Amino acid sequence: MYPQTHVYFAERVLGKTSDEITLGSIFPDLIISNTLDHTTAHHSGQKIFNLLKNHPNLIEFAKAVITHGIEPHGLDYYGDEKYFDFERGYCFEKGKAIIDETIAACNIPTRMGWWKSHNIIEMGIELLVNDIKPCGSLIRQAFNNRKLIGTLDKHLMHFHCTGPINLVQKTAFFADYIEIDNITEETLAAKYEFQMITKHNILINRKQVACLIEKAAKSVTEDLDEFFDYTAEKVKENLFAVTDRY
Ligand SMILES: [Zn+2]
Repeated sequence: MYPQTHVYFAERVLGKTSDEITLGSIFPDLIISNTLDHTTAHHSGQKIFNLLKNHPNLIEFAKAVITHGIEPHGLDYYGDEKYFDFERGYCFEKGKAIIDETIAACNIPTRMGWWKSHNIIEMGIELLVNDIKPCGSLIRQAFNNRKLIGTLDKHLMHFHCTGPINLVQKTAFFADYIEIDNITEETLAAKYEFQMITKHNILINRKQVACLIEKAAKSVTEDLDEFFDYTAEKVKENLFAVTDRY
């Protein structure tokens, strides 16, 4: 999912907002790099919790990381991997209906169609979340909290074997790479174009992608809240299973 969606969802699960919760809810996407892959980043909730459990002021950060991940099951598990008896998660299921249009708009080979159509659904969800409760200013505020970022860098120094995470650098890069607080179908499509060039050297049709993001938003309007409700309850249980011993 996209950043505002993660911040919004973390608030639904944890019942409050703070810079710690905002940074934690984006953390698994924030730390992905050439030396730290998506899978590792999204299976890090338990490890982060263990590293921070003796620091009461950082517990909410660790809990928010868990609301995002794949293992323990957070929002990305239910969005990407598995939701009810669907073949995969909610975003992949919704993405099935726009695979052909995604292939055309993104100028991609057929084999990438379902994967990229689920990204379009995620952008449609980001568009709706931005309408329901814009969280962009919370993200900017957390990214500017240098004291907290410095503390996290210190405590997470040994999180990964390839060296320090360097959150100052990561937050600056992330804000360039992904639209944070000016959410429209056009701005989402523009950043997506940049990502597709960087990752795959592919030039998308930006206008068509923007229309598709709007269509994706319409396609989830009816049952998105049900998805968030169900998933938030599940994630509360999963969170309790990790944290109740402390
Ligand atoms: Zn993620």
